[in-house]
Amino acid sequence: MKIVVLTGAGISAESGISTFRDNNGLWEQHRIEDVATPEAFQRNPKLVHTFYNARREQLDNQAIAPNAAHLALVELEKVLGDDFLLITQNVDDLHQRAGSKNLLAMHGSLRESLCSYCKHTGLVKSPLSTDTVCPACTKKGGMRPNIVWFNEMPYYLEEIYAALASCDIFISIGTSGNVYPAAGFVAIANEAKAHTIELNLEPSNQNSNFAEHHQGPATKLVPQWVEAFMRDRMQLKH
Ligand code: NAD
Repeated sequence: MKIVVLTGAGISAESGISTFRDNNGLWEQHRIEDVATPEAFQRNPKLVHTFYNARREQLDNQAIAPNAAHLALVELEKVLGDDFLLITQNVDDLHQRAGSKNLLAMHGSLRESLCSYCKHTGLVKSPLSTDTVCPACTKKGGMRPNIVWFNEMPYYLEEIYAALASCDIFISIGTSGNVYPAAGFVAIANEAKAHTIELNLEPSNQNSNFAEHHQGPATKLVPQWVEAFMRDRMQLKH
């Protein structure tokens, strides 16, 4: 039984991290065009650095921690091992901190930097600025967060498409289904004849493409679904 899970900003909402579709298309009061495109970085790198440094600092706040939904996915992975793959669009580190291992962060990570010149990636140890020097090529001015911005190619697509083409169950959690290519994953899973499930606070844009949907907060729906799956699995074994 192979399960692929896709998560979006909604799974981290109850941990205290804002989504953006729920804020009228604003991410922490900023327009996407101002902070999440390569053009925005070229136009106003200082604003982009300030925005992502603040998002990263938020992760260090003691009050921000993985919630019951992140933790339930770790329990599912413990049972399924390599038959489980978690794909996240999130750039926070809550899945990693919860203990997920088979995890592909397709939109990058707030914790990492990327040098625009030499493509070196590394962990961010202090806030990034236009003065940050790349530890690999030593050039200044090209350091950016390792985040996949709009109009850029997400990471791991080959692995993701291969996993979707061979999965038995595809579950989408806390994502509005607006951002492609992730919004198109359900169609690929359907083509592969997988059972498709949406767990979201409200019907997403892709809702009608899922065979099964449940509406409610992730901290309730995800542990519930995982528990029911484990119970059914145990019963099948006996
Ligand atoms: P989105 O903001 O577009 O949509 C969030 C979805 O989650 C909505 O459909 C909403 O109804 C649902 N939701 C809200 N609270 C929920 C809850 N408690 N339980 C279950 N569902 C809930 O998010 P997206 O589809 O992931 O796309 C946003 C893009 O912005 C992604 O590419 C992501 O990288 C980036 N982003 C990331 C973070 C993060 O890392 N935590 C936060 C904001 C934006």
